[in-house]
This record gives sequence, structure tokens and C-alpha cells, in this order.
Amino acid sequence: MDKKSVSGSCLCGKVTFKIETPLLMFRYCHCSRCRKATGSAHASNIFILPEHFSWISGDENVVRYDLNEARGFATCFCKTCGSPLPHTTKRNEVVVPAGTLDDDPGQLPESNIFWKFRASWSLEPGEMPKFDEYENK
Ligand SMILES: [Zn+2]
Ligand SMILES: [Zn+2]
Repeated sequence: MDKKSVSGSCLCGKVTFKIETPLLMFRYCHCSRCRKATGSAHASNIFILPEHFSWISGDENVVRYDLNEARGFATCFCKTCGSPLPHTTKRNEVVVPAGTLDDDPGQLPESNIFWKFRASWSLEPGEMPKFDEYENK
């Protein structure tokens, strides 16, 4: 697979970073911790090697939160806008929330983990009507 550089940023734009492909893993996690950390039905997590990650700007604006009772659950976010941002795991991989990427990483998600714990209201997008923008009523 070709090496590719993909940039990412937070909502307010203070924090920017770049990653290099290939990705180690790309998966959706439906666990309750990921739901809390993302505010969404599931996290969309990309895993890469640490040497394939670098902050471009605003890393002093990144706050890390390690969940006390967890063996390794952590999240990083922008101090200004609250967007989730990449963090390094105890296994020394970098988890990149896929929604923070500004370009196509060129790989698709492979699997859903913690499916058994998905939210009761979690539906796959294909199960719902689609609108290009707002739903017109
Ligand atoms: Zn921000
Ligand atoms: Zn999770």
C-alpha cells in the first residue's frame, strides 16, 4: 500500500496534526465509554504507529483524560472547542478519531467491536432515509 500523509484538525482549528498511512486498524467501537467520549453511537477509531503521527500546531491546547478505573481508556480533546483528538495508548499505538481527519485516509473501517453493548437506539445508516442536507419537510 502506498504511503500517504493525511491531515486532521479540531473544530476550532487551533489543533492540527498529520498521520501517515498505512493504518494498523480502523474500527467502530460501540462500548459505553466510547459513546460517552464521543457523544455518538460509536467511536470511529483509527490506530496507527506512533512514528506515523505528528502534531502540526496547537498541541499545547490538547488536554488528556485518563479514566481512573479503566486499564487503559483515555481520550484527548481540544481545550477550546472540545473536539476529540488523537491520543497514545498504553500499547504505544495512537488512536485517531476518524472524524477529525480532513482528507480521505484511503482505508475503510473493518469491524464493529463491543457490538453486544451498542446503544438500544443505535441504527445502521442504511436502515434510515437519507437526505443530502437537512431533511426537507
Ligand atoms: Zn479546537
Ligand atoms: Zn470503546
